[in-house]
Amino acid sequence: MNAESIAIVGAGVAGAAAAVRLAERGVAVTLYEAVHEPKPIGAGLLLQPTGQRVLAAMGLLDEALALGIRVDRLFGDTPSGRTVLDMSYRRFHPEAYGLGLQRGALMGLLWRRVRALGVPWACGAAVESFQQDGDGVTLQLAGGRTARHAALILANGSFSRLREGMRVRQSARLFPWGAVWTVLPAPAGFPQIELRQRFRSASQMLGLMPVGKAHAEDVERGINVFWSLPVASLDGWQERIGLQPLKQRMTDLFPEVEPLLAGLTEPVQLREARYADVHMARWHDGRVLAMGDCAHGMSPQLGQGANMALIDAHELSAEVGTGGTGGKDDWPEVFARYTRRRRAHLRFYEQASRGLTPMFQSDAVVAPWLRDRFFGWGGRLPYIHQQSIATLAGYKTGWLWGRLKL
Ligand SMILES: Cc1cc2nc3c(=O)[nH]c(=O)nc-3n(C[C@H](O)[C@H](O)[C@H](O)COP(=O)(O)OP(=O)(O)OC[C@H]3O[C@@H](n4cnc5c(N)ncnc54)[C@H](O)[C@@H]3O)c2cc1C
Repeated sequence: MNAESIAIVGAGVAGAAAAVRLAERGVAVTLYEAVHEPKPIGAGLLLQPTGQRVLAAMGLLDEALALGIRVDRLFGDTPSGRTVLDMSYRRFHPEAYGLGLQRGALMGLLWRRVRALGVPWACGAAVESFQQDGDGVTLQLAGGRTARHAALILANGSFSRLREGMRVRQSARLFPWGAVWTVLPAPAGFPQIELRQRFRSASQMLGLMPVGKAHAEDVERGINVFWSLPVASLDGWQERIGLQPLKQRMTDLFPEVEPLLAGLTEPVQLREARYADVHMARWHDGRVLAMGDCAHGMSPQLGQGANMALIDAHELSAEVGTGGTGGKDDWPEVFARYTRRRRAHLRFYEQASRGLTPMFQSDAVVAPWLRDRFFGWGGRLPYIHQQSIATLAGYKTGWLWGRLKL
């Protein structure tokens, strides 16, 4: 491997997007991915206007639009018909929308671009540890191999152990709640323009999101189904709950889902998701940088994880080649500038995610009671609606003011 190149660990959204953005700026990068044959799998994503801007900068937005579905509105209510959420992107900007996309579709686009740019990509190459010194970083790979690079980007997800090798104050807490989810074919006439949620307190939540096609040649469009479960019930849910009783719980909460659930016939169709709340005092340590979920994993309630990963990659590339060191990047300096650039935006979303998640996924009683009484009412006030939708769109950098400039 080229010792002058930057190693990126993890070929998920963050790692693949960083490889693309850096390679486009002429930086030599090498991608390391633990999985032998990465397959484009994963939950449906709602890609926000900010993430869409990054895809546009990569020249990938048109293809993403052809695969995904424009989502104009988020609507959530209780079984008694009380509106909890009713947000329309158009009230943020007349041309704004969320893009419902299968994660596999997004990964397919990013990986194709990684290959087209000729980025060296080692699959089945799990990085086990690293050591940095004044000149570079040495990686230890599974199987005893080592590799030397000028700098290292950790983009290996919320549950990264490598992050602990960074001399940065950090914490990673498994959320007590996770989810099962799947993508099912949309039955004829099934609504496909809004993200629909139904809540009973914070202990039951069903989310339906149109996510379009996984591949250009597919005919069927999919609906992502998300069912919230405590982690304690998630382990072995097939035996503890079983598929039919689980489907019954879903239809009891939201009877309109029945025709869609006809496509859910086997427990293996439902995938389990666990997430961690990751906090780091800063995201750089000398020649090592953490990005994506590895740096700021959060619950999916705000729909920001993949979005943030794309913005991280874009903002890092904006710091490359600006230091004026004779064409050679001073990586510790580039990474420190990246931390300064990203701080306000990432801190806002970490706080918002931490504050909102217990209102949607928990055993709490008071928080969802307040949610049911005040969210729908507050959302009818123009200022609150504007702030809520700006938050969802991924633009906010502070509670009172501050907008991300992309
Ligand atoms: C149910 C659910 C719904 C979601 N909905 C949304 C949404 O609507 N909008 C949104 O923006 N986000 C959403 N997200 C979040 C989003 O999926 C994640 O934030 C995003 O995929 C994180 O990307 P990443 O690249 O940081 O990490 P990952 O996707 O976790 O990728 C990490 C990669 O690193 C590799 N790896 C791990 N360890 C090593 C190692 N030691 N060596 C080499 N490789 C390694 C892994 O194999 C993997 O490929 C959702 C998440 C879930 C679970």
